[in-house]
Amino acid sequence: MATRRTVMTGGAALAAAASMAPRMTRAAEKSDVIVIGAGLAGLKAAILLADQGAKVTVLEANGRVGGRAYTADHVEGHPEFGASQIGPDYARVLDMCQRLDVKLGPGANIFAPFAFSVGGELIRKEDWPKSKMNKTVGEERPVVPAALFSYFLKKFMTFKSPEDWLEAEAAQFDVPPGPFFKSKGVSDEALRLMNEGLIAPDLYNVSMLTLMQEEWRSAMIFGVGESTGKDRFAQFGETSQHVVGGTSRLPEAMMRHLGDAVHLNKIAARIDMTEKNVTVGCLDGTAYTAEFAISAVPFRPLRRVSINPPLAGVQAEAVREMPYANNTQVMLRIKGAPYWEEDGLDASLWTDGPINAYRQKIASDGSRDVIQVLCVGKKGERFDQLSEKDRGELAVREFARLRPSTKGKVEVIGVHSWPNYMFVEGCRHSYGPGQCAKFAIEMIKPHGRLHFAGEHTRRLDVGMESAMESGERAAIEVLTRMEG
Ligand SMILES: Cc1cc2nc3c(=O)[nH]c(=O)nc-3n(C[C@H](O)[C@H](O)[C@H](O)COP(=O)(O)OP(=O)(O)OC[C@H]3O[C@@H](n4cnc5c(N)ncnc54)[C@H](O)[C@@H]3O)c2cc1C
Repeated sequence: MATRRTVMTGGAALAAAASMAPRMTRAAEKSDVIVIGAGLAGLKAAILLADQGAKVTVLEANGRVGGRAYTADHVEGHPEFGASQIGPDYARVLDMCQRLDVKLGPGANIFAPFAFSVGGELIRKEDWPKSKMNKTVGEERPVVPAALFSYFLKKFMTFKSPEDWLEAEAAQFDVPPGPFFKSKGVSDEALRLMNEGLIAPDLYNVSMLTLMQEEWRSAMIFGVGESTGKDRFAQFGETSQHVVGGTSRLPEAMMRHLGDAVHLNKIAARIDMTEKNVTVGCLDGTAYTAEFAISAVPFRPLRRVSINPPLAGVQAEAVREMPYANNTQVMLRIKGAPYWEEDGLDASLWTDGPINAYRQKIASDGSRDVIQVLCVGKKGERFDQLSEKDRGELAVREFARLRPSTKGKVEVIGVHSWPNYMFVEGCRHSYGPGQCAKFAIEMIKPHGRLHFAGEHTRRLDVGMESAMESGERAAIEVLTRMEG
């Protein structure tokens, strides 16, 4: 399995990077398959291929594996900056954990129930239906702001199975949810509140279709019924699991299983294909050759990789144009007496101010000393205009302004922006209106000897399970060709 590669260092590597193709240092042994990107998708593909006896080389740009499965081990309390909740129906993730002896525990950074700050007023969940700040109408009124989007997605969706989103009839939902909901009589105030917390660019620049399918699939996975008024604590507390010691332990175990097939700090810079081979050249001047390659790289960083022959048509368009949703966070540590006992409100706070939410995490041991401050959509873009220090200060200042009982009771322990994280540039792919029908099927087709995996190529599942699903599909595609 091992590749006897020659690693170039210092000036030599830089010189080679400047003039890549002719002067790269080739790995001595050819592999069967090169997997680019060691997130859960790439690692799953690599393990499946290795299981079938293929010689695999995995190239990961970062100095760690896992991508968006990222436990911040350098931050006090080791919070999760990325994935944490493992659904009861995550067959592939659960199977991998069992196989590699990765321990799971109940619950996963479940958020404490929410209070609401609307127009600067603090409101208890139970008071929302009759609050003077609740300007929504009719059936909308009992639905708390954080649950409105999910409420209307569920109301209008007509899926009967997880594949339905790829069928021609589903195209009616491949439209922005804002105008669609408005045409169904949803009030402007409900639309405004939905827009405050959407993990997508906004209600007008995202396709409703993929969000509907995700909502539907999540409901199946986590056993969530009618979600009126339910927050994530109530929804996921009982059914989800977490990786003991942090989600990163799972991709690390997968890397160990693959042994020296995994190469870190290998930024793929170009992919050159001939009739018989594919060669992946890395920024440090090394090059690896195999019969096939799988790109498990999100489309944004993939835009920086030169692919020869180049992608064409809709596939090229999808890589060039796929929008990504953002998610930028500040982690706060709670100190002193519990602020929520002082003001008698639920500990998490949803806001229509410059920050989306202050989510108090309840760890599996019951401790509740970390707040995840979350900014998404346009709020996230605005937030990321600030330096890390200023983001932390704004998060603390705004919390004290909206909720005076937190004053002096929280301090910044970590800051992380997924849009600023060069190897993903967003928290997840987010089809624009019309793009599901146009891109979803075409963009995952093999391009010559290059196949595609990653959550952006998901078919049925969501989150970490979708990454594994995609890795499985790409590995099977390649194995089928190798056998033929
Ligand atoms: C904030 C947040 C919370 C989440 N919470 C959950 C949750 O609770 N439950 C859940 O199931 N899912 C959750 N998810 C989703 C889940 O994390 C992702 O769906 C999944 O991890 C994506 O895996 P992937 O392999 O497709 O992509 P990634 O994990 O992004 O992996 C891509 C890899 O490619 C590498 N790469 C990029 N460019 C190059 C290059 N040029 N050369 C080589 N390598 C390259 C990257 O470094 C990275 O390692 C969350 C995601 C985020 C961001």
